[in-house]
Amino acid sequence: MALSGLEIYKQLPKTNCKDCGFPTCLAFAMKMATKQVSLDACPHVTDEGKAALESASRPPIQLVTIGTDEHEIKIGNETQLFRHEEKFHRPTAIAVTVSDTLDEAAIAERAETIGKLVMERVGTQVSVDLVAVDNQSGDPARFASAAKLAAEKSGLPCVLMSATAANLKKAAEAVSGQKPLLYISDPAEAEDAARVAKDEGCPLAVRADGLEALAELTPKITSAGVEEIVLDPGTRGLKPTLEALTTIRRLSLKNFRPLGYPTIAFTAEEDPTMQAVEASTYVAKYAGIVVTDAAEPWQLLPVLATRQDIYTDPQKPVAVEPKLYEVGEVSADSPVLVTTNFSLSYYSVEGEVEASRVPAYILSVDTEGTSVLTAWASDKFNAETISQALKKSEIEGKLSHKKLLLPGFVAVLSAGVEDESGWSVLIGPKEASGLPSYLKNQWKAV
Ligand code: SF4
Repeated sequence: MALSGLEIYKQLPKTNCKDCGFPTCLAFAMKMATKQVSLDACPHVTDEGKAALESASRPPIQLVTIGTDEHEIKIGNETQLFRHEEKFHRPTAIAVTVSDTLDEAAIAERAETIGKLVMERVGTQVSVDLVAVDNQSGDPARFASAAKLAAEKSGLPCVLMSATAANLKKAAEAVSGQKPLLYISDPAEAEDAARVAKDEGCPLAVRADGLEALAELTPKITSAGVEEIVLDPGTRGLKPTLEALTTIRRLSLKNFRPLGYPTIAFTAEEDPTMQAVEASTYVAKYAGIVVTDAAEPWQLLPVLATRQDIYTDPQKPVAVEPKLYEVGEVSADSPVLVTTNFSLSYYSVEGEVEASRVPAYILSVDTEGTSVLTAWASDKFNAETISQALKKSEIEGKLSHKKLLLPGFVAVLSAGVEDESGWSVLIGPKEASGLPSYLKNQWKAV
């Protein structure tokens, strides 16, 4: 949490010695509050003052790292309750379960499937992050061998889930050096699990029944030397979990230290569609990790799409390069579709053109990454910008016609574009989903 200048000033020597290059301690404190100078510049601050400032400036939600090297996942360190106030920083990690009650071949097959859950959305790859190995057997040897196999076959960092600290130790040793997240489901075993986490250098997820119990538990975990903690409030089901996740986020942002950690949530729905709905809800509302049995791409794509949307910086729309794109084997007779350079708009159009199997040009106009209607409303998608983009693309020399297709929502621009560019304007469907039918049936007719 950012400290104010006065809060910093209280911890300084207040001698105004000027050794830091500032005329007074207060001036130094004010600069430090805006992060223009670091505490190191004051050689006289006491160890006590330093410790107090470091502790107070710790982020309200602890940063937790799971895995190593290129598979490293970081969660926590969030600073906002609402995305539009700044942005959310650390995307929710999605973990898919593997039970250690499965036989070896089934564990290997499921882990491999989980590792390959990589999908493309708006030009970006989205994927599952973690494999969650569940010690449903209760057997330590079985758990350890399932952990090793799942890590190897999925290529992902693990969440190791057990009710027993001793079993967690066995499994953690089996994937030693890979920094799995240890999850202890029995609160009575949490302190023993903390000792395992400390020995193995792993973060620890703890469960307690309710937030009060959780707030009492976390100081015991930190006393055992584990700082990287993940919280499970013990709720299952959409409503209570959503309430608990929201309360934890609110309290942590108020600097309530015992709950200042990222959270883990579990889908409990049995209906496959509802599993996706439940997981997406937890992504939208504050879960650091969502653990789910859902392993079908159709279930996970909406979850990953929600994550991509929520964790996109709202101040910086995701844009594609504004230029002329060719989809398929274009020819002089191919249609020309005009859209903006907002990623979602562009890729929606591109996906539908591909689906239509009608080769086409897509002219992406520079609207600073805003969508068709937003760009039209802010006058970035108008007759002039469309005409300029057409000219710059030099498409005219590639075609036997001078017809372009405008999105149906901005039909109002057609006369202006015709006047400004000299091209004939056709009005396409309002939604990109209408393009395949339009291109196959109507385009040929004009
Ligand atoms: S060096 Fe430290 S004690 Fe001296 S003026 Fe700067 S902040 Fe104050």
